[in-house]
Amino acid sequence: MTSHIMPTYGRLPVIFEKGQGAWLWDQNNTRYFDALSGIAVCNLGHAHPAIHNAICKQSEKLLHTSNLYGVASQEQLADQLIRKSGMDNVFFCNSGAEANEAAIKIARLYGHQQGIDNPCILVMKKSFHGRTMATLSATGNKKIQHGFSPLLEGFQFVPFNDTNAIINAIKQNSNIVAVFVEPIQGEGGINIPASDFLNQIRTICTEHHLLMMLDEIQTGIGRTGKFLAYQHNDIIPDVCTLAKALGNGVPIGACLAHGTAATLLTAGKHGSTFGGNPLACSAALAVLETLEQENIIEQVEAKGALINSMLTSFLKNNHAVTNIRNKGLMIGLDLYMPSIELVKLALEKGLLINVTAESTIRLLPPLIITTEQIEYLTSNLSELIHEFTQ
Ligand SMILES: *Cc1c(COP(=O)(O)O)cnc(C)c1O
Repeated sequence: MTSHIMPTYGRLPVIFEKGQGAWLWDQNNTRYFDALSGIAVCNLGHAHPAIHNAICKQSEKLLHTSNLYGVASQEQLADQLIRKSGMDNVFFCNSGAEANEAAIKIARLYGHQQGIDNPCILVMKKSFHGRTMATLSATGNKKIQHGFSPLLEGFQFVPFNDTNAIINAIKQNSNIVAVFVEPIQGEGGINIPASDFLNQIRTICTEHHLLMMLDEIQTGIGRTGKFLAYQHNDIIPDVCTLAKALGNGVPIGACLAHGTAATLLTAGKHGSTFGGNPLACSAALAVLETLEQENIIEQVEAKGALINSMLTSFLKNNHAVTNIRNKGLMIGLDLYMPSIELVKLALEKGLLINVTAESTIRLLPPLIITTEQIEYLTSNLSELIHEFTQ
């Protein structure tokens, strides 16, 4: 049968029908362990009753009214996000790329406010910020940009985890108004920078009056063991973008701002028809409430450490595995060889994993993963890696 969907994704030959927690079932009722969570989206697992109830209850009352009127759940969600992040205010949208578009617009308004006519945002090599024209222009991956020139101007690339490169760029380019970075590069290969990288960027940005903008779309909502990854560093950025796990599968994005950055998107400067609608906000409110009530984020660090130590011990004699690293439940495992094929082999064994940057196995299991499931995941994955690298 020919598909009438544009072939933008190389899809695996499976269609899922239902899920429960960390498990999925396909149309033949075959069970799969989900170690990817819909790419860091379903952090609370599939079919979580709190999310189900919130969506059902909201849909009985209202789905959408538009941002021409007040939206009570949007106000509540903004209050919660502000309380949990230390930021000042929020713009709601529907995806990660959209949240980053808002961040980029804030940086440009900030530049113009300072009398800079051609503001430039410092971005990182191997970064990923989305697929819209602005966000792919900010993405440090030639494959993603290929075929889409002319790209948007106003982005300059420096290597990730290199504060000297940032300082040098700022010295040479007086148009730089912001530094935009992922706390851990997800698509780029689970690249975890030096533990004080964000502190250094904060200091540099404060000193040079630049906006520090963090893309927490993959690292946010508990994934790394704190609600937001920057909370490991005890700093507050000027801008922080969220999406993925914020709605546990209901599309919602958010751009949080602090200080001057929070004053720039005034009436008429930005908008979104769906952004922060009652349905999406009710889901996100249920996500935040569940994370707190069930103390989920507090357990992430220990779970990540257990996965790392179990993988390390299962794979210690396998020389094809060159590195295993994690921050919370963001886990990367490098093979010395291209390992895209492993995704299909894992699927055939009932295991959903991802490979990014050619040879990095990426695991983003749901935060609700149990000790028993960690044993299942690590032993099965290790066995697969042994077979694959033999
Ligand atoms: C997924 C992702 C995006 C893009 O989000 P979309 O919702 O697909 O637009 C942007 N930045 C990072 C770090 C991401 O992981």
